[in-house]
Amino acid sequence: MLEKTPCIICKKDAEIKLENFNGYREGENFDIYYCSSCNTSFVWPQKVDTQIYDSIYSQADFVPGYNRYALYANEIKYVKNALKYLAGKEAMYFAVKKILMQNIGKSENILEVGSGLGYLTYAIRQEGYSATGLDISTDAVNKARASFGNNYICEDVYQYALKNIGKFDVVLLTEIIEHVPDPSAFLDALMSLLKPGGKLIISTPNKSAYPSNEYWNTELPPVHLTWLSEDSFIAISLQKNFSVSFFDFSDFNKKHFDFTKYKYYESYNKRHERLPTLNLKGEVLNPKNLVKNNSLPQPVLKFKKYFKSIIERIVMLSPLTNKKHFERNLILCAILKKGQ
Ligand SMILES: [Zn+2]
Repeated sequence: MLEKTPCIICKKDAEIKLENFNGYREGENFDIYYCSSCNTSFVWPQKVDTQIYDSIYSQADFVPGYNRYALYANEIKYVKNALKYLAGKEAMYFAVKKILMQNIGKSENILEVGSGLGYLTYAIRQEGYSATGLDISTDAVNKARASFGNNYICEDVYQYALKNIGKFDVVLLTEIIEHVPDPSAFLDALMSLLKPGGKLIISTPNKSAYPSNEYWNTELPPVHLTWLSEDSFIAISLQKNFSVSFFDFSDFNKKHFDFTKYKYYESYNKRHERLPTLNLKGEVLNPKNLVKNNSLPQPVLKFKKYFKSIIERIVMLSPLTNKKHFERNLILCAILKKGQ
């Protein structure tokens, strides 16, 4: 354990803030470092635990936090407008939909990196765009192909990038960068895939939505290795040949409820300490299966959802809500534009 280590984003000094912090698997602990120059928290040393991912994928239907992906992959086959369905579910898909509709032409070549079960690439293709999914997991790519057709490639992104320099207009990356070691090198590989002027659209949990002394309020390590803020992306853009802007979530926040809108979210989060998801054998501690009967929600569930949204809207009108950063969400979406 070191007191200080260079920040993995801006290279300035980062200090240890959380020693022996809880891991995703029971009984495992990690050291968390924080860089105040670019508001970034990260696990050090950074190492991917492939065994944990095998455990998550093999139990994908009922791992809390990941089970929703299995649900979307299942439900999306039955909906009329796939991208609209996803955009209504989560902020990151809302952002992807709006950015595509407003800024990306149908003839542009899109690559989704970390396409997982394949439903986002499918939804984008349903809108008439040309999109391909790329994932390192054979299991995920096989499932994606079986559900949505042959538009998925199974390969490591670094290997793929070497052979496909400057091929794409748009690279999409939703909820991936927080899982990979050395995010800066990872971004270099993604940027090399883009044509000059091409766009890299990235979503990741947003450290800027929390007070800066909240050092880790995202998935436990080593599943997440980095917690990035808006300043992290600005710091990276200063070192590389791209400009950065952030998606404005105001329109999403008007319709959806989440705790970023509370002035008092800090105390709320303190009451919810994150606990390990897996035991040492890799089994899920509190399994929860969201995928039911291969169908869309039943009328009762639809009514419950409708009722919940009414309550949420009433709460959102209260003076407790945070009107100061209404453009922010628990997820940040950065749009990185490659220089000419
Ligand atoms: Zn830094």
